[in-house]
Amino acid sequence: MIDTSDKKIIVFDLDGTLAESKQVLGLEMAELLARLAGQKKVAVISGGSYRQFQKQFLPTWREILNERPAEEVQSLNENLFLLPTSGSQIYGYNQKMGDWQILAQEDFPAELKEKVKKVFETIVESADYDIPTESYGEQLEDRGTQITFSALGQDAPLGKKKIWDPNQVKRQKIKKFLEQEIPEADVSIGGATSIDVLPKGFNKAVGLQKLLDLLFLEKNDLIFVGDALFPGGNDYSAFVAGFETVKVENPLETSDLIGKFLS
Ligand SMILES: [Mg+2]
Repeated sequence: MIDTSDKKIIVFDLDGTLAESKQVLGLEMAELLARLAGQKKVAVISGGSYRQFQKQFLPTWREILNERPAEEVQSLNENLFLLPTSGSQIYGYNQKMGDWQILAQEDFPAELKEKVKKVFETIVESADYDIPTESYGEQLEDRGTQITFSALGQDAPLGKKKIWDPNQVKRQKIKKFLEQEIPEADVSIGGATSIDVLPKGFNKAVGLQKLLDLLFLEKNDLIFVGDALFPGGNDYSAFVAGFETVKVENPLETSDLIGKFLS
C-alpha cells in the first residue's frame, strides 16, 4: 500500500498510463484526476507536444469540470500542471488567460537537431530495423524541445502500433544505434512505437526536478506513476533519479491506483 498522505504532488505519465497511446483521456479517469487535484497538485508528463495535450487531455478535463462551481474549477485548474515533451516544457494554469501557459522550457540546439534527423534518415532507409516503408503520417516530428520518431507514423492505428514492437526489442536496437551515433543526445523509448530524443542530460527526471523547483517542493513531496519504468523506458529516469515511483501496466491499473490514493 502506498501512502500518499504526506505527498504534495502526484505526477502521471500520459500514454499507456492515463490513456491508451495517443487516445483521448477517458471521462472516468478525468474525474479521478479532478478528485485528486482537489486534494493536492497533479501533473501530467508526456513525450507528446502541448498540442497533443490540447487534443488528448484537456477536452475531457474541461468536460468533467463543466458541472462544478466556478471557484472549484479555478482551484482544480490551478492544481494541474502539464509537462509536454518529457518535461522540457512546463505549463501551469493562468487564471486571467483562462488557459495553461508555458512557465519554463529547455533549449535544443539546432545543430544537434540536424544531426538527429540525419541519423533517423539512415535508420529508416536501413533494412535492419523493420520499419515499414509506408507510414501513417509523419515519422519524425520536431516538437521544439524534443524530436520524436514514430516508427509507423504519427497517425498509425492503435492496433497496428500495439503489435509492431510489444517487447521494445526493435526500439532497443534503434536506441543503441542512436546512442552510438549521437552521444550528445538522450534517447528513450516511449508510447507504443516511438523513440524520444532530447539533448544529453535531459529526461523526464530532470523535468520533474524543474517542476519541483518551480513549485518550491522537495523530491520526497512527489510520487510518479508510469508504465515505462523499465530500463530504456521513457519513465525509467525518474526511478534512477531516486523519485518514488509506481509502475502500472495500463490505464485500468492507474484508475485503481488513484482510487486507493483517494481512499
Ligand atoms: Mg507511457
